[in-house]
Amino acid sequence: MSDFEQVLYERIGPVARISHNRPERRNAEGTRMLEEMERAIAEALADDSIRVLVIAGVGDHFSAGHDLKEGESRRHYSVEQRYAHEERLFYDFCLKLRDAPKPTIAQVQGACLAAAFMLANMCDLVVASEDAFFADPVVNTLGAAAVEVLIHPSVLGMRAAKDLLFTGRRMDAREAYKIGMVSRLVPRSELEAETLALAGQIAKAPPFALKLVKRSLHRTMDMAGFRAGLDAHFDTHQLSHASAAFGDVWEKGLSTAIESGRKAVG
Ligand code: ZN
Repeated sequence: MSDFEQVLYERIGPVARISHNRPERRNAEGTRMLEEMERAIAEALADDSIRVLVIAGVGDHFSAGHDLKEGESRRHYSVEQRYAHEERLFYDFCLKLRDAPKPTIAQVQGACLAAAFMLANMCDLVVASEDAFFADPVVNTLGAAAVEVLIHPSVLGMRAAKDLLFTGRRMDAREAYKIGMVSRLVPRSELEAETLALAGQIAKAPPFALKLVKRSLHRTMDMAGFRAGLDAHFDTHQLSHASAAFGDVWEKGLSTAIESGRKAVG
């Protein structure tokens, strides 16, 4: 098993739990963490004894999203450099998780913001505790067109997706459960146990049948244009990185955006 610094990899029977493990930074996702997470997911998928993957966060929060402090070091990236960086580490990484041939569950407490909202929603199911909250504020805080993977309409419905993206507001776990984005809503003290119970139940199903039904469900979406929409949005998102509004935020320094992100986390 690999050594991870910013990811915690746990094998719990037939379940691999892969957690953001940088609680002192609200589990901010930097390059190192995302590369470790990608490696951890690949290990779990290659291990025949693992039937279900759980994506989680150590500490009070699932994750506050991308590491904006590290992102500031990319402020002078060319269009080509930014495209390549985000395609590999944000877009392709997320879609690999979405396409995982084993069932995946996000276990969410506290903040689940922006890139972390995107990552959690790559999972097939979401178990959230009552203190969890979700937002994608980057239209408002960064002048960018949402995050890289426009998963929002398919998990929220179009009306709620517009509400959240236009305002940048938080959606609490109860609202997320009510509209169907969250599959199970549980007290914080029961989050780990309930998630593992759900994973354990799914792990009893024949893995090949699970793999096939997931493929069929995803193909149904893809035939309706889902994947082409995501691809198109990624390019549109890159265009927003070249906008004056985004450039202004960068010129002022990201401290304002980081501060508003911190306030959102509370
Ligand atoms: Zn971006």
